[in-house]
Amino acid sequence: MRIGFIGLGNMGGPMAKNLAAAGHAVQGFDLAAPMPEGVTAAATAAEAAAGAEVVITMLPNGQILRAVAAEVIPAMAPGAVLCDCSTVDVDSARAVADQAAAAGKGALDAPVSGGIGGAAAGTLTFMVGGTPAAFETVRPLFDIMGQKAVHCGESGAGQAAKICNNMILGVTMIATCEAFALADKLGLDRQKMFDVVSTSSGYSWSMNAYCPAPGVGPASPADNGYKPGFAAELMLKDLRLSQQAADSADADTPMGALATSLYGQFVEAEDGRGRDFSAMLPRLAARGRGAA
Ligand code: NAD
Repeated sequence: MRIGFIGLGNMGGPMAKNLAAAGHAVQGFDLAAPMPEGVTAAATAAEAAAGAEVVITMLPNGQILRAVAAEVIPAMAPGAVLCDCSTVDVDSARAVADQAAAAGKGALDAPVSGGIGGAAAGTLTFMVGGTPAAFETVRPLFDIMGQKAVHCGESGAGQAAKICNNMILGVTMIATCEAFALADKLGLDRQKMFDVVSTSSGYSWSMNAYCPAPGVGPASPADNGYKPGFAAELMLKDLRLSQQAADSADADTPMGALATSLYGQFVEAEDGRGRDFSAMLPRLAARGRGAA
């Protein structure tokens, strides 16, 4: 298949490389990042999109996606599919899909879970919004870049699934960290805490698979000085998207709002930037009841 790939950073670079390694003809464009192995450089985003059956974007945010989409949609062949894999706001995903449909092109929002390791290994999970026909067109590419693709519904449904999942993740990570901080002060050994909670009703992915306490549970960023992993500022980005969506849909998400505010403080007023999002544990453990 002929593929255009725009946004070749930490995630897009290895994804494009995997598509090229599987034998697809990939034309890439990025403002700064180097061309991955096997990918042919295009001079502009429109040039990367021209003649492609599928155009994939992997960009920082919704504003940049909207600008890139406005450039590439007119350059795409009739019936070609624009597949955005970035994490962006639901409204931008829907606006881009409407613009593509009006021009006779397909569109999918297909954000991913699995991080940089999953992008390199081709084991991402895709959560996808858009028409069944567009999903079927891109499905063979999802199978190369990932291990699972779930068609969640119409345009915007993929981004909705992503931010709902990550809102749960942000909230459960904070809850897990504050429970460890309380257990510390109650004199409970962290390993015993893990042994009980990981097999009791307080269990979660944050506790069982990504334990924020060093030396406890399976290997996680906590065992590597809280080097990301999943950086706190990326969690903050996703939590803010969840609150933007909650505002626009008039949904009551008090725990999501509190998690957003805590990660905002951690990243923007403290030392959270560049640390894994599970570094919320040392932050909370160092504080007392009266901390501002
Ligand atoms: P990144 O900053 O490494 O890559 C983004 C790339 O887009 C950069 O190379 C940049 O030069 C390029 N770019 C920006 N504007 C452009 C334009 N107008 N035209 C062409 N290229 C442009 O970011 P990343 O870590 O690869 O993340 C990409 C997306 O994936 C984000 O939306 C992020 O939220 C999401 N995501 C990231 C992770 C992760 O662990 N890094 C996990 C899941 C989802």
